[in-house]
Amino acid sequence: QKTKKTHVFQSEVKQLLHLMIHSLYSNKEIFLREVISNSSDAIEKLRFSQLSHPDQYKKLINPFKIQISLDKKNHTITVIDNGIGMTKDEIINNLGTIAKSGTKNFLEKLQKNKKEKNDFIGQFGVGFYSTFIVAKKVSVYTRHANLKNKQGLLWESEGKGTYTLEEIPIQEIGTQIILHLKSTEHEFLEEWKIKNIVSKYSDHISIPIEISKYDEKKKIISWDQINKAKAIWTIPKKNITKKEYQEFYTYLTKDIEKPLTWIHNIIEGSQEYISLMYIPQKSTWDMWNRENKHGLKLYVKNVYVMDDATQFLPNYLRFVKGIIDSQDLPLNISREILQDNPLIKNLRKILTKRILMSLTTLQEKEPKKYQKFWNNFGIILKEGIAEDTENKNIISNLLRFSSLHMPQKEQNLSLKNYLKNFVSNQEKIYFLTSESYEASLNSPHLEIFKENKIDVLLLSDRVDEWMMNYLLEFENKKFQSISKTDLSLEKMITPKKNITPENNQQYTSFIEKTKNILKEKVKDVRITHRLTNTPVIVVTDSNDMSTQMAKLFTAAGQ
Ligand code: ADP
Ligand code: MG
Repeated sequence: QKTKKTHVFQSEVKQLLHLMIHSLYSNKEIFLREVISNSSDAIEKLRFSQLSHPDQYKKLINPFKIQISLDKKNHTITVIDNGIGMTKDEIINNLGTIAKSGTKNFLEKLQKNKKEKNDFIGQFGVGFYSTFIVAKKVSVYTRHANLKNKQGLLWESEGKGTYTLEEIPIQEIGTQIILHLKSTEHEFLEEWKIKNIVSKYSDHISIPIEISKYDEKKKIISWDQINKAKAIWTIPKKNITKKEYQEFYTYLTKDIEKPLTWIHNIIEGSQEYISLMYIPQKSTWDMWNRENKHGLKLYVKNVYVMDDATQFLPNYLRFVKGIIDSQDLPLNISREILQDNPLIKNLRKILTKRILMSLTTLQEKEPKKYQKFWNNFGIILKEGIAEDTENKNIISNLLRFSSLHMPQKEQNLSLKNYLKNFVSNQEKIYFLTSESYEASLNSPHLEIFKENKIDVLLLSDRVDEWMMNYLLEFENKKFQSISKTDLSLEKMITPKKNITPENNQQYTSFIEKTKNILKEKVKDVRITHRLTNTPVIVVTDSNDMSTQMAKLFTAAGQ
């Protein structure tokens, strides 16, 4: 009987396809990167499944490979993999809808932002649809590894709003994608071109990628491997070039920019593992996505196990991207087990130190790069002051601030440098929290500091108030909010002649009157030396909540 049915694409997909087909792409070739990366994912999934549940498979697939063949007569590119394949439900979900949250926003952004379109598409993970940039029709033959050969599927579409789905017998498990090229895209039928694209984007894929060679005389097809097919992290550091590290990063993260730096460690001994972690330059798409995916890609003995394993790094290092390959963990490890495994806790400690040490080196050796890092991720790193008592000291050294004496808003003063500019008799590190940098500059609290040339850290990020509850000391100097009463200040500055203990008494009746008027609204009314231009200021007692904190609470309705 005929099972061929026509389905309609979800409207987001239609919109996306429309965008892809009707805009000019500078690097159309990314379609191949996307198809190959999907094949590689599918193979890694099957390899993992076979190893962790061997009983479910009658015949184990081996060797795994991705094959590309070019047909100049019919103008098609075919990519075949022996990966996990797709069931009917999966194909409908994966190649008919976009499941990711935030798709609408993303599409709107895309529509406005013509220039960055291609790169965003890759990052967003709608890779498969990019085939329609070069193909007028796409056919997908797939058979899921757990299904019989009668249960194969053929998916076909011209990318115009609908696709067809048909049940057909397929001998081999896995997926075969046939791209029927548009007449303008026949250049992709050249073998050298395909080889170039593969080596540019997919060289480090650890599964062999082969291209077909047809011998006209002998009338036989042979296959040539065109990538190195070795997981980059297993190669000794000295044999990996900077470019190779960068390419692997691009493959892993789909980030448009190069990474800021990376840390690669191959550890042997009682606990054996390899980690390769990258610090990006900027936040990537998934960092501002509400789903907020982060964590490392986990491998066990070179076999892919899961994405986004968050347990290997603390939350405040969520900008770090990379892989961890463990020799000791069981293959069938679950997220729950990861959660309270002592092995993981120990790894997490080590990896955290590594990142913090690498940032410390970066700030010393490459201050410009470090500044870039800080501007993008400082807000996240600050959470570490509250969350990671053990490393608080190292993190304190990584902090950067705006300050009264710094000429600009950019946060680039370290605490070390603040200490260097202490005036004589200064005992404490002064800071002011407020809702914005601009607001802090106008604060009357600063008057006395301006006059006496004492520097004050100006804090206005949302996390600052919270962080300052935990950042109490740096190199034995206490932090002091300047909106709280504090005697250390009085010691540093010479009081004005006209306010001495004797003539303070002159003001007694004035103070009494003021107290009477304000009643419960204030704790106390005092004469101060702190102000020069402003007549009155509200301060809090050293143990009380700061005014900024109080404002936050009020805003939160408490
Ligand atoms: P992403 O790879 O980010 O999930 P894609 O648009 O590239 O997004 O692919 C969508 C989904 O289609 C994949 O997640 C996968 O489930 C499925 N898929 C695509 N190609 C294959 C393939 N060759 N084998 C098995 N599943 C595939
Ligand atoms: Mg993909």
